[in-house]
Amino acid sequence: MRQTLVAGNWKLNGSQESIKTLVSGILAGVGDTGNNQVAVCPPFIYIPQVAELVRGSKVALGSQDICDQDAGAFTGEVSGPMLREFGCRYAIVGHSERRALYAEDDEFTARKFAAARNNGLTPILCVGETLDEREQGITEDVVARQLDAVIALEGIAALGEAVIAYEPVWAIGTGKTASPQQAQDVHAFIRGKLAGLDQAVADKVQVLYGGSVKGSNAAELFAMQDIDGGLIGGASLNAEDFLAICKAGG
Ligand code: PEP
Repeated sequence: MRQTLVAGNWKLNGSQESIKTLVSGILAGVGDTGNNQVAVCPPFIYIPQVAELVRGSKVALGSQDICDQDAGAFTGEVSGPMLREFGCRYAIVGHSERRALYAEDDEFTARKFAAARNNGLTPILCVGETLDEREQGITEDVVARQLDAVIALEGIAALGEAVIAYEPVWAIGTGKTASPQQAQDVHAFIRGKLAGLDQAVADKVQVLYGGSVKGSNAAELFAMQDIDGGLIGGASLNAEDFLAICKAGG
């Protein structure tokens, strides 16, 4: 039985003050989230602050990105060893905003996935199609290609120790959520593809849905057979909204 994971991606938002309020709100209600796993991914600079605040709680810490290199002349980057030092458990790789705005391709994303694993972090690998790709009927091809780059570099077993987030790009931050069935269809495709290579990996891997998840739609999404929780953007910036999602499913 896979556990439900709800991970908040705060993106480029927050201040020391607002983060203190947000985290204390989350900590006040996280006891009511049962067996569901909860994680937050602050901007890099706030990771030490959040690490202190969540210490000893069930809230795990993740990063929104990771350098593909561990150390050296890579100005502006943050590496796996640094993230580990500050208690990160997860690292998001291949978010659609990284792919679209910073030209991070499948191979580069796969190297970031490897960097996370090599440093004891669990990668949250984001995959998903644009609206144009969905309308062309190539959603599965796109998702397969994104997964294949990681499988080619790291092998199928590595996905059994990772989290996958299916995030249709057209649903991110737009208020348009995939219907539970639309999401389930792609999740089932992902799990089926992995099962063709290794059934145990397919059974084990948590596949999250991301794209305008809210307290009002989380339960029906998480109730689908192959949806194991969510990667949450906008709604993770408000403790009450985030907790409502954290309590769903499971
Ligand atoms: C995201 O950025 O991963 C995301 C799912 O954002 P939102 O929930 O705001 O659509």
